[in-house]
Amino acid sequence: MGGNVSGSPLAGRTVFFPTMAEAGSRAIASAFRSVGIDAMPMPPSDEETLVLGGRYSSGEECLPLKVTLGDALKMLVHSAIPPEKMAIFMPTSDGPCRFGQYGSFMKMVFREMGFGDVLLVSPTCADGYAGVGEHAGELIRTSWRALVASDLLQKLLLRIRPYETEKGAADRAYREAVDILCRAVEFPGDPQKRKLARMVQGLREGRALLRGVPADFSRPRPLVGIVGEIFCRLNTFSNDDVMRKVEEAGGGCWVSDVAEWVWSTNAEHVRLLKRFGKHLTMEMFGAKLKWHCQRKDEHALVEAFHGDFAGYEEPQDPWVVYELARPYLPPEGALGEMMLSVGKTVYLHRKGADGILDINPFSCMNGIVSEAVYPRVSRDCDGLPIRVLYFDGTHVDRGYELEIFMDLVRAYSARKKTVRRLPEGMGTPAARAGAV
Ligand code: SF4
Repeated sequence: MGGNVSGSPLAGRTVFFPTMAEAGSRAIASAFRSVGIDAMPMPPSDEETLVLGGRYSSGEECLPLKVTLGDALKMLVHSAIPPEKMAIFMPTSDGPCRFGQYGSFMKMVFREMGFGDVLLVSPTCADGYAGVGEHAGELIRTSWRALVASDLLQKLLLRIRPYETEKGAADRAYREAVDILCRAVEFPGDPQKRKLARMVQGLREGRALLRGVPADFSRPRPLVGIVGEIFCRLNTFSNDDVMRKVEEAGGGCWVSDVAEWVWSTNAEHVRLLKRFGKHLTMEMFGAKLKWHCQRKDEHALVEAFHGDFAGYEEPQDPWVVYELARPYLPPEGALGEMMLSVGKTVYLHRKGADGILDINPFSCMNGIVSEAVYPRVSRDCDGLPIRVLYFDGTHVDRGYELEIFMDLVRAYSARKKTVRRLPEGMGTPAARAGAV
């Protein structure tokens, strides 16, 4: 446990990752294990998660905090791990909302409950990656690759699952694909180039499994873009598995992934450096170099999916999305996920999406701001149906609400002007060529 990091704050501890996106948490934990740090995703959330998270928060915090806190407390109160052996990966931010306070709040609760020895690990704090010492650079790069790779597998799952003809086959293939990826990520000691090649090979194997799922793509379904607060839109427990419900109601989904958020934080870093006149500094050089390396890795990993994502191309960089948001939320004045949600909605409209669901925790300020501008966005996008859904962990039945939304989506799809490019194998050749 923590074998290669003796002497660091992580030595002798297991790092637990909140299961924001299941595959992503597993892959990042594998990246940590590849440098000798014991790491794993938190156990799946359940009703006890909400009870514990709710009991030790005031009720005004956002759902992601309640879920993460509840999952951590579940392990501690059941003595699954002693506090002095536990670390929790908790990214933080200086952004415009409560997210930046999650870590401090959790520390306070742990202290009050006698679990004060739990260590919170943040990618930006001094006891986070710095605690990994000589492995920090390797870990950051492997984590990025793991994250991109898991995003890509999820994207392919969402592209294929609505069309499966054998129920459960896509999920089974996906789980196996994630296992293969995690084994490739975890493999220790490789130089960076070989590590990347091993992951690309793992992705190819996972891709073959997913493409082998029995499926009927002859009738393309309406495509629903999923935007919103990152934890809630990706955590199936928090959002009541909303993407599966869209599929059950006849649609398919294209979800904004975790990499999008990382690119937006990179862009914000560069923007701030420019704003403070630090154009010709080592910090700017470092930021640009990181950008270049991350992009290079991303291209190498996407290559494994050649042709699968035709029509599903992601924006070239975050500024494309910010510029699309500009008429509604000027990037110089607005910050955070509201920019991504609104800009991506316009982007998805241009890619031929048939509707947008903006997924948020109840009272999320990003969702509230986005919701205020969506009527104008929808009007400018030919009446594109946009619906904001808020989740508070009460698991109410949204079937009726989704059915109505999907009716609007189908009606829009039948009259829309933007033609959606279809990937190879989906729809008729004429439809793929954009002729119908
Ligand atoms: S983004 Fe929304 S849910 Fe997340 S911390 Fe901020 S206000 Fe809360």
